[in-house]
Amino acid sequence: MRQAHTEVLVVGAGPVGLWTALLLAEKGIEVSLIDRESRTAARSYACALHPATLKLLDTLGLAESAIERGRRVDTVAFYDGPARQGEIHLSKLGGSFPFLLILPQSGLEGLLEQRLRAAGVQVHWNHRFEDLTQQEEDVSAVIEELEGTNTGYIVPHWETVVKNRSPLGVEFLIGTDGHNSMVRSRAGLEYQRVGETESFAAFEFESKDKIANELRVVLDETTTNVLWPLADDRFRWTFQLLRAEISGDFPEKERRAVRIDQPTIDERIRQYVQKVAHQRAPWFTSEIKRVHWCSEVSFERRLVTQFGRKRCWLAGDAAHQTGPVGVQSMNMGFREAAMLASILHKVLREAAPISLLDTYNCDLQKEWQMLLARPRGLQPRSETNPWVAKRCDRILPCLPACGTDLGQLAAQLQLAPP
Ligand SMILES: Cc1cc2nc3c(=O)[nH]c(=O)nc-3n(C[C@H](O)[C@H](O)[C@H](O)COP(=O)(O)OP(=O)(O)OC[C@H]3O[C@@H](n4cnc5c(N)ncnc54)[C@H](O)[C@@H]3O)c2cc1C
Repeated sequence: MRQAHTEVLVVGAGPVGLWTALLLAEKGIEVSLIDRESRTAARSYACALHPATLKLLDTLGLAESAIERGRRVDTVAFYDGPARQGEIHLSKLGGSFPFLLILPQSGLEGLLEQRLRAAGVQVHWNHRFEDLTQQEEDVSAVIEELEGTNTGYIVPHWETVVKNRSPLGVEFLIGTDGHNSMVRSRAGLEYQRVGETESFAAFEFESKDKIANELRVVLDETTTNVLWPLADDRFRWTFQLLRAEISGDFPEKERRAVRIDQPTIDERIRQYVQKVAHQRAPWFTSEIKRVHWCSEVSFERRLVTQFGRKRCWLAGDAAHQTGPVGVQSMNMGFREAAMLASILHKVLREAAPISLLDTYNCDLQKEWQMLLARPRGLQPRSETNPWVAKRCDRILPCLPACGTDLGQLAAQLQLAPP
């Protein structure tokens, strides 16, 4: 039997995978996108798009739809307890989209999937990448089709079983399969830990009072905390957890759109958020009406030593992770996808050499070394506010930008790239 074949296989239909597949499809490249889950994410997760990402979305006419669904934020303010220590304004960046767009990841993924469908590409949900073999001219991937079965008798219990296992021949394989990437591991790409793991608890809530339309980052001696204004009059507190409070590993994304109400637990969570917010940010006097969703999540500082080799490449969280405040990992993933799609178009349609992909690795290594402050991050000047100077390494992952925009935002705090 002949093995099925497509030009590019994208593994993982998170925001970066959906965007990668869309860019390739728009360039007329035959693309197949698989995900082991049954649908897109149901929660806000990485909830902010940088101006540069909006510019990228605009190349496919998607920026306006994203803006309609999100909330524009101009200011990022830095606090230490009650004191406001600094602020940056995205409006000073100029350009077509001089603001941060707060858009829940669920909304972003929905928008991208819809557009992908319009481009004639269906996500193959319930399909899991298992293994790969790289040859000189192509890659053979092993994909498992999954299905759920109800195994319980009195108490229903859902289990996932493999319905089908089949090979797929591809010219290129792109792993956008997130932090625990199987593609990265099967391709033998080393994922180096380059810093401390930090754990956070995120609480999305409605408030009885009006809350300022700015991102507020609270950096005290030991913790980083963020108050995000979300769309639809919701907000999110993200609190860094102290070592004793941490319970688990990086959680999988939740796919259920509906939440089951548990009044007693909900009230306990509401009181907890109100208390911690008041302790860490005494200026937060708003009354929390209802907590809609909460989750605990750990963020490592990690980077692959190589973004890929031969015909198998990575983008997004599969290749890196940093702190959550500046949403740099997902936003860089959008740029990586655009770089990869452009190179693959040149290789597949214009007979460019495959070695062009080495520039992808070199450029990103440089950029990520800077984002991860290796060996040095942002540097204070003589006139820098001492509070900012002392925390410059902690401020770097909190800036909602990468590349030249990052330099411009840092300059507003009198910090300079190394
Ligand atoms: C609770 C929570 C809160 C978060 N909060 C923030 C935040 O405040 N700021 C921030 O910057 N980031 C946050 N994140 C992280 C953010 O969601 C990621 O940075 C972002 O999703 C990365 O996008 P991605 O497309 O690279 O990978 P992902 O969104 O992780 O997508 C990977 C996809 O690959 C699929 N997949 C994995 N393995 C396989 C396989 N073997 N075969 C097929 N498919 C596979 C998965 O099902 C998934 O859909 C949060 C994450 C969680 C879970």
